[in-house]
Amino acid sequence: MTGRKNFLQPLLKDISACRICRDRPKYGPPLPHEPRPVCVAESGARILVAGQAPGTRVYETGIPFNDTSGNRLRDWMGVDRETFYDRRRIAIVPMGFCFPGQDKRGADLPPRRECREQWHDQVFAELKDLQLLLVIGLYAQDYYLGGKASRSLTETVERWREFRHADSRHIVYPLPHPSWRNNGWIKKHRWFEAELLPQLRADIKSALTGAN
Ligand code: SF4
Repeated sequence: MTGRKNFLQPLLKDISACRICRDRPKYGPPLPHEPRPVCVAESGARILVAGQAPGTRVYETGIPFNDTSGNRLRDWMGVDRETFYDRRRIAIVPMGFCFPGQDKRGADLPPRRECREQWHDQVFAELKDLQLLLVIGLYAQDYYLGGKASRSLTETVERWREFRHADSRHIVYPLPHPSWRNNGWIKKHRWFEAELLPQLRADIKSALTGAN
C-alpha cells in the first residue's frame, strides 16, 4: 500500500451522503425513507463480502450481518465476529447500500439499480488488495461473475469450482444467502457443506494470512 493514493475514504464519504434514490431516482419511485448507506471497507481489505441490500434491521442499526444470517455466514467463512468486522481485512459491500423498502407482501425489494450504476465500479477499483470475493445472491453474481452466472442461483453455486479460478486476480465464490430461508436448500444440496465450505474456509484462511 506504500505510496498508493487512497481514494477510498473520500469515496465512502460521498456514498454516506448519497440521496440519489430519494431525490432523483432513475429506476423506480423515490425511496420512501431516509437513505442510510451501508458500505464497510478500507483500502487493504483482502476479502469482499458482496450481498444484496440491507434489510430493516441493518437499516436500524447500520451494522451488516449482525443477526443469525451473519452468524451462519461467519460459520461458513470460519471467522469470528472480530475478524468479520475488521474492515482492514474484510470489506462488506452490498449491491444496494440502502434498505430498498418492502413490497405489499412484506418482502424486501431488490437492491436499487442506481447504486450499482453510481458507485460499485468505483468502490471495486479502490479495493486493490482483494484476493477473495464472496458473491452472495443473484444480484451480486450478475455483477461480479461478468455475465457467466447461470440463470438459477443453484446452478451458479454448483459451478463454484469453475468460478473459483475464473478470475486471474481473485478467488471467487458464488454463495446463496445465509438466511434460515435457505435451510431447505442447504439440506438438499449436501455438497455445499461437504465440499464447498471446507475449501472456502481454507481459502479464507490463506487470504487473511496473505498466503495466496
Ligand atoms: S441505494 Fe445507493 S444510490 Fe440509492 S441512495 Fe443509497 S447509496 Fe445512493
